[in-house]
Formats: sequence, C-alpha cells, structure tokens
Amino acid sequence: MKKYTIGQTIGNATLLKRETTEKRYYKYTFQCNICGSLFSTYAPQKQAKKCGCPTCSTRKRQENKVKKYIGKKYESLIVVSCDHNKKDEKARFVYANCKCLSCGKMFSARLYRILNGTTTQCPECENKKRLQLLEQYRPETHKGDIDGTRICSIKSREINKNNSTGVKGVSYYDGNRYRAAITFKRKQYHLGVFNTLEEAAEARRIAEKKLFGEFLKEHDK
Ligand SMILES: [Zn+2]
Ligand SMILES: [Zn+2]
Repeated sequence: MKKYTIGQTIGNATLLKRETTEKRYYKYTFQCNICGSLFSTYAPQKQAKKCGCPTCSTRKRQENKVKKYIGKKYESLIVVSCDHNKKDEKARFVYANCKCLSCGKMFSARLYRILNGTTTQCPECENKKRLQLLEQYRPETHKGDIDGTRICSIKSREINKNNSTGVKGVSYYDGNRYRAAITFKRKQYHLGVFNTLEEAAEARRIAEKKLFGEFLKEHDK
C-alpha cells in the first residue's frame, strides 16, 4: 500500500487530511488546485487518473456539451457560453448563457430547452409574446374553439360578406380566374388557382372533406 503524505500533490489536488475509517480504509481529503474545492476519496491514485476533482470534471463535462452550440442562433437567441453559476442539485441540467435577439439582454437557459425549441428568447420577451397571444385569442370571442377552430363555423355554409363568387372559400383571382383556400386551426391553406368557379369549388370541397371530416368525427358528437 502506497503512503501519501499531507501536502503531497496528486493529479491537480493537494492532500489535506488523512482519516482512518471503520472499514480500516484511509479516507483522504483533497483540495483542488484549480478550483479550490474540497473532496474526499478512498483511492487517490484512481481518482487522479479518472477525473480529478469532481467539481472541475462536472465543469468540463458541461462545457463540452455547450461548446458546439456557441455562436449558433436558435430562433431569437444566440448561445454565448456555458453557465456554471446556475446550479441544480446533482448538476443534472446544463445551462447556457444566451443573448436575447429580441431585446439584447443576456440570460441563462437550460441547454436542452434551447435545442428542443422551448426557449426561443429571454423570459421577459417570452412573457410579452404570451400576453400578446392571449390578447389575440380572448376566450370570450373564441368560445367553443378546439385548436382555434370553431365547429359551428366549419359546419356553416354561410358565406363571408366580402365573398363575391358565391362559393365559400373561393375568390376572384386576376380578374377572370378563381382562387380556392381553406382556413383550419388558424392556418390558411392555399388550394390553387382555377379557370372555372366549378373547379375551384371542387378543390374546396375536397379540402373540406379532408381537413374538417376527421376533426368533426372526433369533436362533434
Ligand atoms: Zn476543481
Ligand atoms: Zn429579450
């Protein structure tokens, strides 16, 4: 068995203390020469070879995870660096310092949330956007909506006041042609431009069947 003396450097750490434990093993307490944190081990040589100080190795691991995303743009943010100040117990999450492209402020976010598109800008801007969306879709004006689609409105044959062709979803295009479109779940789908009103009406009918059919089967009981 190797002897270690107090003050000896092993790897990047200095031995501070050696204690005998109940199991008759020695427990060694080291101080990391790089970050200054204390850690204990029963096998100094192994520890030094493996990863050295646990704090530093966590830091390195997190840095490596963030490294390849630095300078990249995700929606309204740019990844700037790894954030070591944010700590959750066990260091399960990797945090990145980001610059918000909407307001220019720096903020910290979990890396996985940036990569999966949950975090797209700083929390304040995110909040502002949420409020704007709420304002746009007030519950009282959209009562009965499912995913932004109202059952009574898709079942209705009523034609929009501005519609001049007389067929729902079909409008004049270029003077003598017809454009068919359909709106579903807040998205407008362009169905094409046709030479005759009949063709445009047919395109709209097919789209209705396809988009609304499944939706009504599911929700209109
Ligand atoms: Zn360290
Ligand atoms: Zn912002």
